[in-house]
Amino acid sequence: MLEEQLKKRFNEIDTISFIVGKKILRAMQKNKLEYSHFAGSSGYGYDDSGREVIERIYADVFKTEDALVRPQLMSGTHALTVSFFGNLRPGDTLLSVVGKPYDTLLSVIGIREASGSLKEFGINYRQVDLLSTNEIDFEGIKNSIDTTTKMVTIQRSKGYSTRPTLSVAQIDEIIKVVKSVRANIICLVDNCYGEFVEEMEPSEVGADLVVGSLIKNPGGGLCESGGYIVGKKKFVEAAASRLTAPGLGKEVGATLGTNKNVLHGLFLAPEVVANALKGAIFAAAEFEKLGFNTIPKWNEQRSDIVQAIDLKTSENVIAFCEGIQQAAPVDSFVKPIPWEMPGYDVPVIMAAGAFVQGSSIELSADAPIKPPYTVFFQGGLTTYHAKIGITIALESVKRSMKQ
Ligand SMILES: *Cc1c(COP(=O)(O)O)cnc(C)c1O
Repeated sequence: MLEEQLKKRFNEIDTISFIVGKKILRAMQKNKLEYSHFAGSSGYGYDDSGREVIERIYADVFKTEDALVRPQLMSGTHALTVSFFGNLRPGDTLLSVVGKPYDTLLSVIGIREASGSLKEFGINYRQVDLLSTNEIDFEGIKNSIDTTTKMVTIQRSKGYSTRPTLSVAQIDEIIKVVKSVRANIICLVDNCYGEFVEEMEPSEVGADLVVGSLIKNPGGGLCESGGYIVGKKKFVEAAASRLTAPGLGKEVGATLGTNKNVLHGLFLAPEVVANALKGAIFAAAEFEKLGFNTIPKWNEQRSDIVQAIDLKTSENVIAFCEGIQQAAPVDSFVKPIPWEMPGYDVPVIMAAGAFVQGSSIELSADAPIKPPYTVFFQGGLTTYHAKIGITIALESVKRSMKQ
């Protein structure tokens, strides 16, 4: 019975991956991608035709005026940082509309004291939390916008919190409300973990800037480093001026042989995202059978690849992460242990055995050791690996429960 229902869900996922895959293929054909684009550049990186074609392809896939896709964007956090600093000026306010942003951004914004934060440069921050029902506080958003509000930041994925992920339809609603107050407020979407899960991207429903990491969904597991920023030309250019230098903008930046993997990874990404989603759904179904609370449930709509499971005890969390680690192709013999990570108030455990360091489109799991002992896991380049990893993690948790 469950098998049948899972199959139906998997078919829905394959339908989306087919549509997105076709969109990416067309963008590559339209921009006349050719073998010579893989050559790349050194030094200043002037006239790097491969880099330029990558950015045109990204702009077409996300249906935006412009794109900045670079190995010099070191992570999702860096791509977001460059987007903020490039577009905000002293006295402006950045407004987060779905609660506290992803952990690493706390230092960037200055919510957590850090040298060089937006706060140090006189850029203000305000936040609208979700309602106690986890619904979006549209009234609160309207009331929090004032004349200094220059940018609204919308985080699509729940990240490592247990609120629901925003669907593209919900992002659409938020943007409509913000623009109804003042049309020139820049709406930025942190799209990390969300790419290609739905047919449409936030840039297709009015987002001015959409930002993410190439070692998550859009890199398809092949991209070894980098980030992307897509959106309205003037906002992308402002970010580029900050990444390189004012006056240089997008014109410089050697790609150092990365072009092929960026494109090859993008080509595979819809399939890889589908595999990660199937793994997440399989895991949710299996852990629900054992009586654990999952976010989202196996049969709920998804807009990112992250699966959260409340495992009830720290022993179960550790057992789960050990299982995921044992299933890894790299570092399978390593035993993950909780440690005091900078910026966290409790020990955190992480399981990852990836070909690309920190790549969380590959099967990986993380958990802060605190009630309700939620483990967050994501990725799986292939369905077979996701299934193997989850099955080992499941057996490991079952053993831990018996003790
Ligand atoms: C991963 C992630 C980031 C930061 O990306 P890094 O590449 O780890 O710096 C930001 N926001 C969300 C929602 C994420 O999932």
